[in-house]
Amino acid sequence: MKLIKTDFLIIGAGISGLTTAFRLNKAGKNTHLVEASNVPGGAIKTIKKDGWICEAGPNTVLVTNTFFSSLIEDIDLKDSMLTASETANKRFILKNGIPMALPDSPLSFFRSPFFSTGAKMKLLAEPFKGRMKSEDETLSNFVKRRLGQEFLDYAINPFVAGVYAGSPDQLSVRYAFPKLYELEKHYGSLIIGSIKGAKKIRIETDIPRAKAKMVTFTEGNAMLTDRLSEALGKENQTYGDAVKVISKSNGGYKVRLESGKEIISKKIICTVPLHLLQHIDFTNMLSADELQKFAQVEYPPVYVLHFGFNKNDIGHKLDGFGMLVPEKEQKFILGALFNSSIFPSRTDSEEKKLITVFAGGSRHSYIDSMTVEDVLSKALADLKNAFLISGNPLIRNCTKWPKAIPQYKTDYKDIQVTLRNSEKANKGFHFQGNYLGGISVADCVKNSMMLADKLLAN
Ligand SMILES: Cc1cc2nc3c(=O)[nH]c(=O)nc-3n(C[C@H](O)[C@H](O)[C@H](O)COP(=O)(O)OP(=O)(O)OC[C@H]3O[C@@H](n4cnc5c(N)ncnc54)[C@H](O)[C@@H]3O)c2cc1C
Repeated sequence: MKLIKTDFLIIGAGISGLTTAFRLNKAGKNTHLVEASNVPGGAIKTIKKDGWICEAGPNTVLVTNTFFSSLIEDIDLKDSMLTASETANKRFILKNGIPMALPDSPLSFFRSPFFSTGAKMKLLAEPFKGRMKSEDETLSNFVKRRLGQEFLDYAINPFVAGVYAGSPDQLSVRYAFPKLYELEKHYGSLIIGSIKGAKKIRIETDIPRAKAKMVTFTEGNAMLTDRLSEALGKENQTYGDAVKVISKSNGGYKVRLESGKEIISKKIICTVPLHLLQHIDFTNMLSADELQKFAQVEYPPVYVLHFGFNKNDIGHKLDGFGMLVPEKEQKFILGALFNSSIFPSRTDSEEKKLITVFAGGSRHSYIDSMTVEDVLSKALADLKNAFLISGNPLIRNCTKWPKAIPQYKTDYKDIQVTLRNSEKANKGFHFQGNYLGGISVADCVKNSMMLADKLLAN
């Protein structure tokens, strides 16, 4: 069997691995990428069927940094980029069983009946609240302390389910929502910090969320990872072969794949999700304790469901980005995206409407014990009630992510320190991925490009 020799071995062909490999390869470095599955993309997965374009992973990319835009230029994908329609600025939250539009400006916040007078008063008092006493405060404590319980229940709780599929009772404000933490730290108030433009905490490459574009690609998000893989060149990638053993060898590393194939590399960038590291034999590199610690990081299950309907069967205009569901509403679904309103070209006719539904998460981790048929019918019942849908769906589809998104909890610092110490103990071995510095696609791109640049500078 042919032995592969390279300078940089990248493990995993999700957005983190592909971006790192592409950046190193573009700079002329000898690079090889290995991926366990047969296709590039990792969590980015587009399903195209009978004129419907459905995203089983991320639906949209919020371009919160300039690294993402420069990557798109580098792989010549700018012309295929689609920006979300203006309609997508409107967001719904389910309240008392009815989708209600979330206020989108300070004036509409005070005029809207969405929050009670008491909640509005609490927001006005926010600048006068003291700073956090403990560095590892949960998001729910932080929000209760600064904004009150109603804000937590009807704004933050559904938002966290939509982003992390997680719970504000468990996530760390400092690590899961670093901008909120920094606003309090530098300005003493979220409101004052936002009014002042949060300049103190923004780095040059950041794009403020309010100005950030929300995008996808004409044929779906898989276009991004497919194009990166194409640009990297077939000869520099191995698919359908998982890394099984990594050991130190002659100042570098020797890697054995499931097929028995061996790779010798001077440096390794490992983007394998933390819960899967335990399946790799890291002889003399990572201890059993370290691997156990990584395996314990929670990745809740998420089921992504697609439903396509005839426009005339839906009693709601679906005139927004989507709807999030607070835990208090006691529904099965976590939220729904109105794909045809965000990017109208997701269906081949204006008469058809695509809705993507998220279910499971930390809130309903029992979902794994349900049948797909039960999941689809419970979700459909929630949709029919919320959006007054009468007919049966034209399409139904379910994608399971048994371990979807890493939860940045209050022990995150300990995980981060352990990862960095392992890197120090294994020179030339680096971790990268959505468990380091942000879960969004744009954050993964930024952090991967920054790591590649650091390696190139050395
Ligand atoms: C359902 C869902 C919806 C999301 N929605 C959004 C969204 O709307 N917007 C947004 O910005 N982000 C979203 N995210 C988050 C974002 O998509 C992910 O954080 C990001 O794509 C992760 O990329 P990654 O490369 O770090 O990891 P992954 O994509 O998980 O890639 C890791 C790769 O490593 C491979 N691998 C594992 N073990 C081995 C091994 N032993 N050998 C070789 N290869 C191995 C895996 O097969 C995988 O391909 C969503 C995520 C999910 C799951």
